[in-house]
Amino acid sequence: MSTGHLTINLAALAANFRNLDRQTGVETGAVVKADGYGLGVGVVAKTLAKAGARKFFIAQAEEGVALREALGPGHDIFVFSGHMEGDAPLIRDLDLTPMLNSIDQITRHFEALPEHPFGIQLDTGMNRLGMEWSEWVAVAEIALAQRPTLIMSHLACSDEPDHPMNAYQLNLFRRMTDGIDVPRSLAATGGILLGQDYHFDLCRPGVGLYGGLPFGRAQPVVRLDIPVIQTRALDDGEVVGYGNTWQAERPSRVATISAGYADGVIRAMSDRATLWHGQVPCPLIGRVSMDLITVDVTDLDEDPQVLTLLGPQQTVDEVARAAGTIGYEILTSLGNRYTRRITGG
Ligand SMILES: *Cc1c(COP(=O)(O)O)cnc(C)c1O
Repeated sequence: MSTGHLTINLAALAANFRNLDRQTGVETGAVVKADGYGLGVGVVAKTLAKAGARKFFIAQAEEGVALREALGPGHDIFVFSGHMEGDAPLIRDLDLTPMLNSIDQITRHFEALPEHPFGIQLDTGMNRLGMEWSEWVAVAEIALAQRPTLIMSHLACSDEPDHPMNAYQLNLFRRMTDGIDVPRSLAATGGILLGQDYHFDLCRPGVGLYGGLPFGRAQPVVRLDIPVIQTRALDDGEVVGYGNTWQAERPSRVATISAGYADGVIRAMSDRATLWHGQVPCPLIGRVSMDLITVDVTDLDEDPQVLTLLGPQQTVDEVARAAGTIGYEILTSLGNRYTRRITGG
């Protein structure tokens, strides 16, 4: 079998939830959008529910199908994109709570599903989703009369604790919502780490649950081992891969392993990332191709059977840094071809 092995450690996922929850005195929900950050929403949601999560967040109503099936009734599912045209049957049948982002969405929701629970999303400066202050002032009285179950906003710079935007958004969120008798939420993973002022009634971490920064003390949740298909000897001066971008500067051994950019080992890792054989780093050399990667294993005592891209020696964020991206993108790019193993469940 040549597929890579993606191991998902559910005990680490649950521990990350509990650790983040312990840092706040308030309820902690879980963001499981994009198929549970690429790890599989069903198994992720069940694990987090068992660890104590009662409120879940997704980006799009369609993501609620798999999530509701995994959770069953009784947990709240909030949808960041709110109530889009055509969403009413899903929102009703799956009992989703749309976070209404605009006056248009409020109108749509009240007309289509007048008694159905909803939340409100406010923009405090990120300019991505939610109502700005002027819109909120215009509809607050009408919206509040229908008793929203949550009011939230989102921080743009919470992974940089010293960024002045954090305090600016906190202050604006307070001014837009103080005195309103509805539960409030501002903090994702980064906001939890900013401290208690940011926690309000509910925190909603995502990436930290899955082992990513800015939660530096997260336990790694994923491990990715990739089988070696063949190993060959190169003379000094021979070249490797598309475009011949790598040339041997000594007699070398090169392992060809069975994953590529179609599996989320993105092409930007070409000539930059590192794989591991136990404690020994082995540089990725040449260009990443669709299904294959070449690795310099000259410094190993033996020809390896398998090399590790994500694991104890290297987190998603370290791989991301080598590729010029962030851990979130590495996680959500993990491909469908891997054999997935669940441990710690
Ligand atoms: C993705 C997202 C989160 C989770 O953010 P993390 O940085 O992954 O913790 C929370 N809230 C909103 C609105 C989001 O889009």
